[in-house]
Amino acid sequence: MFIRTLSAVVVSVALFVEGTGLPAAAAAQESKMVVTLLGTGTPTINIRRFGFANLIQAGGLNLMIDAGRGAGIRLFQLGLPLGSVDAIFLTHFHSDHISGLPDLYATGYLGWKLLGGRSSPLQVYGPKGTSVVVEGLTKLFAADSAIRSADEGIAADGTKVIAHEFEVGVIFEKAGVRVTAFPVDHGDKIKPAVGYRVDYAGHSVVFSGDTKYDETVIRNSEGVDLLVHEFAAAPSEMASNPLYIAILDHHTAPREAGRVFAKASPKLAVYSHMGLLPGPRGLPGWDEVISQTRDTYKGPLVVGEDLMQFQIGDGAPTILMRGPEWPR
Ligand SMILES: [Zn+2]
Ligand SMILES: [Zn+2]
Repeated sequence: MFIRTLSAVVVSVALFVEGTGLPAAAAAQESKMVVTLLGTGTPTINIRRFGFANLIQAGGLNLMIDAGRGAGIRLFQLGLPLGSVDAIFLTHFHSDHISGLPDLYATGYLGWKLLGGRSSPLQVYGPKGTSVVVEGLTKLFAADSAIRSADEGIAADGTKVIAHEFEVGVIFEKAGVRVTAFPVDHGDKIKPAVGYRVDYAGHSVVFSGDTKYDETVIRNSEGVDLLVHEFAAAPSEMASNPLYIAILDHHTAPREAGRVFAKASPKLAVYSHMGLLPGPRGLPGWDEVISQTRDTYKGPLVVGEDLMQFQIGDGAPTILMRGPEWPR
């Protein structure tokens, strides 16, 4: 079963334009943006849903929003070397959003171009605290980068990481791509936490990041092409469990996410960062989550999957690729 899954991935890689990592259709039409959900999960270990991570390809750039567990593996499945990421934007510092960073950094500077090949510093953008994360990364791999520089002659600049800390607002503009950060409400003790809006060629995509229901997300998402939003849900029997109360208090319930979608009215709403908390009868079913969302939102909605890929251009976003069929 697993071999069949791998071969499905290999087949999908063959659809990509060699060396660019861009799907053939997107490479031919550069005014379009391609968004790939690299990881749609949470801290829970799940091979179908790696840690939260996203790839945006626009203006010839490969940009990432967060780098949760396994982000480098998903990039490799797309046919992209880990060194081909131009910049990473962090929403906050919970481990499920940054635990893939060490792999992206240290595999990225390996000399083998199919795997790494980065010859200039890794650019990491994020709110206050990003420089501490970056400092930790360089310390973690200080011996490795020194050894490989001396032994393998890897590019010294590729082993550098540059932290770009910001408050909020427009924090990146390059090759026609504009990235705007806005504050979100992930709870009083989890600050700073931001969401991102990426604009390119008259189109836009918003990532809520981890947040409770927040009007700021709505204000930044009105009429966008794609709104990728988180949610968390637990079975009703667990409503009084203190751990669950604490977790749910940091996230958006499906009915609230539906309100966000209804007010923002994106061309396509997408669920990612699937906060499904188990109860005595297992996980809440998707039917339940969708039906609660439908109480407040009737528009286009997709449940995200790892490696699901959207093309954003004129008209509604289209799904270029769904995730591989995982073993059950
Ligand atoms: Zn979080
Ligand atoms: Zn999270």
